[in-house]
Amino acid sequence: MDARDPITSTRGVGPVLGRRLAAAGCRRIVDLLAHLPLRYEDRRTLGRLPGADDAATESAASGPLTVVARLENVKRAFGRRRFSRVEAVACDGAARVDVVWFNRPYLARQLEEGVPYLLHGPLRRRGEDGPWQLSNPSVERISGEEYCGGGLRPVYGRIGEVPPSRVARLAADAIRGLREASGPDWIEEWLPREERTKHQLPRLAAALTEVHSPSPDAAIENLNARRSPAHARLSYGEFLLQQLQLAAVRRQRRRSGKTHRYRADGAAWTAATGLLPFRLTGGQERVLGEIADDLGRKEPMLRLVQGDVGSGKTVLAALSCLIAARSDLQSALMAPTELLAEQHFASLERLLGSRMTIALVTSSQRVASDAGAVEERIADGGIDLVVGTHALIEERTRFARLGLAVIDEQHRFGVVQRQSLARKGLRPDLLVMTATPIPRSLALTVYGDLDVSILDEMPPGRRQIETRVTTDRRMEDAVNEVRRRLDSGGRAYVVFPLIDSGEGAAAGLPSLRESGPKWARALGAPYGIVHGRLRRQERDETMGRFAAGSIQVLLATTVIEVGVDVPEATAMVILGAERFGLAQLHQLRGRIGRGTDPALGDSLCIAIAGEPSAEAKRRLEVFAASTDGFRIAEEDMRQRGPGEILGTRQAGLPQFRFGDLARDWSWLVAARQDASELLDRLADPANAALRRQLERRVPGLVSPEEGSSRP
Ligand code: ADP
Ligand code: MG
Repeated sequence: MDARDPITSTRGVGPVLGRRLAAAGCRRIVDLLAHLPLRYEDRRTLGRLPGADDAATESAASGPLTVVARLENVKRAFGRRRFSRVEAVACDGAARVDVVWFNRPYLARQLEEGVPYLLHGPLRRRGEDGPWQLSNPSVERISGEEYCGGGLRPVYGRIGEVPPSRVARLAADAIRGLREASGPDWIEEWLPREERTKHQLPRLAAALTEVHSPSPDAAIENLNARRSPAHARLSYGEFLLQQLQLAAVRRQRRRSGKTHRYRADGAAWTAATGLLPFRLTGGQERVLGEIADDLGRKEPMLRLVQGDVGSGKTVLAALSCLIAARSDLQSALMAPTELLAEQHFASLERLLGSRMTIALVTSSQRVASDAGAVEERIADGGIDLVVGTHALIEERTRFARLGLAVIDEQHRFGVVQRQSLARKGLRPDLLVMTATPIPRSLALTVYGDLDVSILDEMPPGRRQIETRVTTDRRMEDAVNEVRRRLDSGGRAYVVFPLIDSGEGAAAGLPSLRESGPKWARALGAPYGIVHGRLRRQERDETMGRFAAGSIQVLLATTVIEVGVDVPEATAMVILGAERFGLAQLHQLRGRIGRGTDPALGDSLCIAIAGEPSAEAKRRLEVFAASTDGFRIAEEDMRQRGPGEILGTRQAGLPQFRFGDLARDWSWLVAARQDASELLDRLADPANAALRRQLERRVPGLVSPEEGSSRP
């Protein structure tokens, strides 16, 4: 049995369970083991049930109680409303105590009377001197009389349809099986000895064993905080692979040239720029120079352009595509949604349609500016620029000579896709545009394989956006302001933090379902609703109607955060604003004030906060004071530290399985340093396992001359 064997080779996983696990992406034993426990329960000291006269047992005073007991009188009880209760009496020979479980009706069927169970949960008295009660304990059948299975118990989340208790048993069995089959070092170690020694990290097998079956003397606080040496090993290892991957991509790119060439000198760029109906800003000139340099090089460009919404990124992309067309090369521009692709197509047509042939390819439409057959003409080179969604490069579209690929919005497009382009035999220059600015130092760390350009200047004539922050829950002022803008032809977004009314920490926050109708009535204009649980097509349709003006108000969640471009949108109300991070607030606000038509007037963003914490208050102050994305990003970093800002910005960043950018930031920094040095040692025979590991992540990444030896 090997850790990379199919999951069905562990004990207790037959074809049915195997399929259920596979449906959740868990195909091999390692996939199961990558599913870490959410937390750990301390069951190291076995207690006893208290008698009626016991004032307070030690265990009751010091947290949950762990006991071995038999159950009697197991029955379902029907409490008030929807709550279901299962009740029983636990006896451990000396004392009897009531047990109650809430909302676990199946227990009534499952629990057997008279056999020993391990119970773990809080012990309380009912009333001042009332009887003891064990409430909602975890319950686990144990074999024979003997007490077993105490210690530190990992608690798992579910894997797809497979419940947590089952996951726990599978993980424990898998570890035991692997140890029996292959000894304590049961999974190939790929982290070089130098790095392990340097950071004093355990071997991989030891780390996975500790995480899934902690030793009895482990520090539970560290485990629960995921700061144990075992957790550190997993996070650092993951970061190191990512950083090595980025470094290798970069090196590979530097070594392998591109086959296409641009016929463009300075004069050609100047001429192209002259076609625009406006002058480039200083920032645009600078970034365009960087792009022109890249295109002129022998190796393909991999450049990320960061700039606020409306800072003129797309214009630069368009000029680059024009230069490509003049050099007899094709280009592709990819957007994250069909709607955005259509918008790009329309504006590029307007800007450059007379200078080159542009086509739109989405799953619902294929149109070219000159109405010819699209697919064939892309394949034979008759079309200069193809605008579409990512499917463009992932699917069947065949290009005659793709020179340049532009990707709008970084975060949906990762290193793997970049590599998959290369694998299809395409080595286009790549220009990635993102409107989620992060400070340069951070960008280099998380996107180590990209060069980064920053557009930090807005074109002139942009209308101001006024931002007001209020804690006033009454709607009248906001409604009046928004209505004024609707009356003069504007459009408005109302953003809710939740779709349905929330519970727990989210209780009392405004939700789309609850407060949406109220806002719609108060604003009294045709409206539509978009949120993440709607089908993409339905969402796109509603956004399309909003863009076309047949609805004036969009009630939405943060799904509108990315890329929606409706110049007439001049008002936004953000509800529950204390719940949003600075970057996200800024990103949302970027949806308004995009139009340049003076008739639209200035735009207004009203952020309504419930009861902001001191930190939320500071955040909202910064938000109100600045509309510059980089200022906001820097300020965010200053307030919360680099890890925190990256950690909460899920959307724009690579996702990690083990590592957490906020918690493990220093491990990421260490991994970045180690990776650049380790790249030179990669060919060392001692690092064959590491090379195999990289190869698994991105096939073909480690080139033969770097000594990749396939097993
Ligand atoms: P981004 O892609 O960064 O959101 P765009 O390139 O789409 O920005 O530009 C936003 C709007 O500003 C477009 O209507 C564009 O034509 C206009 N624009 C871009 N650069 C300038 C400029 N230098 N002067 C005036 N208008 C500009
Ligand atoms: Mg854009």
